[in-house]
Amino acid sequence: MSARLPVVAVVGRPNVGKSSLVNRVLGRQEAIVQETPGVTRDRSAFAAEWSGTQFEIMDTGGLEPGPQGLDVRIVEQAQVAIDTADLIVLVVDAISGPLEDDAVVAAELRRSAKPVIVAVNKVDDPRDEPAAAAFYRLGLGDPVPLSALHGRGSGDFLEKVVARLPRQTTDIDRAWASMAIVGRPNVGKSSILNALVGESRAIVDPVAGTTRDPVDSYLEVPTAEGTRELRIVDTAGMRRQVQIKDPIEYFAFLRSRRTLSRVDLALLVVDAAEGVTAHDQRIAEEIVEHGRACVIAINKWDLATPEVTDRQRLERDLDHELRFLDWATSVRTSARTGRGLDKLMPVIESSLASHRRRLTTALLNELIAAAQERRPHARTRGRAIRVLYAVQARVAPPTVLLFTNGQLQTDYVRFLEHQIRAFEPFSGSPIRFEVKVRPRRNASP
Ligand code: GDP
Ligand code: GDP
Repeated sequence: MSARLPVVAVVGRPNVGKSSLVNRVLGRQEAIVQETPGVTRDRSAFAAEWSGTQFEIMDTGGLEPGPQGLDVRIVEQAQVAIDTADLIVLVVDAISGPLEDDAVVAAELRRSAKPVIVAVNKVDDPRDEPAAAAFYRLGLGDPVPLSALHGRGSGDFLEKVVARLPRQTTDIDRAWASMAIVGRPNVGKSSILNALVGESRAIVDPVAGTTRDPVDSYLEVPTAEGTRELRIVDTAGMRRQVQIKDPIEYFAFLRSRRTLSRVDLALLVVDAAEGVTAHDQRIAEEIVEHGRACVIAINKWDLATPEVTDRQRLERDLDHELRFLDWATSVRTSARTGRGLDKLMPVIESSLASHRRRLTTALLNELIAAAQERRPHARTRGRAIRVLYAVQARVAPPTVLLFTNGQLQTDYVRFLEHQIRAFEPFSGSPIRFEVKVRPRRNASP
């Protein structure tokens, strides 16, 4: 399973020590500690582990009011955390004691159903511990005193974090990525699988003691970061040359749907000789719905008509029939002649990279601001509708939260997507958008 790691979001006023705490948890200096309050940093998420439990820890420092004039209030930072995290750590400052801003965020967090831990930072000395009690009034349970700077209490704090994370139902897959080969019966899925497996020759042997599904195949693939393991899901039967063909497309469809829930990427195989059918379109829709990365193999290209104009028409038709996958790269292949097969792995790799790409908050907001300048949203009942700010809340698939002052037209969201794609290489991956309409604030006096 490529299960998602639970996410811990660290929120709080500027300068309470959020980055320092993230660093403490990670045991390294990855999140940058700033001496200047309010300096905009990019929101960052890091993989962390404590006593065998893996999770992602997210420093929301980048959402603090910054010099770019983003009207980002502390409450909105909490809002993003509520929207994305499984557990929220509210960091407060023992030296300053509870301030109005702490209470405002706490109120916001109490309204959500998310578990919250109040970390009282800067308790550098045991004699300062009583100061933590002042934070009971935030109404979020027992405050946990610690010193991010010196490490005091951080072990106890991490115990509490791990204890309150949602239980993982499955083992986290150690493989780099997982892929499914989907498509109608007879389009050449097994032939392509055999070619991929045969080509790499390095089929990974099941390691004793690991939980590996016998219906999956593992490939070792060279990537930019070294050799990685690619799991090809649900290939039982496919690797055997002789197989019982399921004649009923619907069952094949159900099977690919089940498979899609387990993978990062779908390799959609279509038959060049037959063109795209309604069943191909349904599978493609499932890929989009599941938010998977996608590569299209237009297979049996050797059977495609040799006429150039006919081939061009075929490709135009494919583009049209699969237009909701317009971000996916297609590769013309022939499992029979071997044509194009060598192009598949590099495209799969770059599509997976897109699927996992994280745009920094600063860059994303620059892109959105430039797009809005180029083409402002249509006025709604005389009112100017704008995206106030944006944040990429998740990867796999990249998911962008758009905080707005009104509902956006679908066309406009598509326009924003195009603008982002024109700048950042997201090819091979869908991008999801969630519009969060902010209630209108009272006009200032
Ligand atoms: P953030 O803005 O909330 O991310 O806060 P930072 O992590 O950037 O820390 C702000 C300031 O507080 C820095 O000068 C840190 O050195 C200081 N600081 C962080 N943790 C502690 C701590 O445990 N004790 C003390 N005394 N200072 C701390
Ligand atoms: P699956 O049902 O999608 O797994 O399809 P198979 O891989 O079993 O292939 C179905 C049939 O198409 C077999 O007879 C293959 O030999 C043939 N086939 C697969 N790929 C190609 C190709 O690129 N060109 C041609 N001409 N035939 C192919």
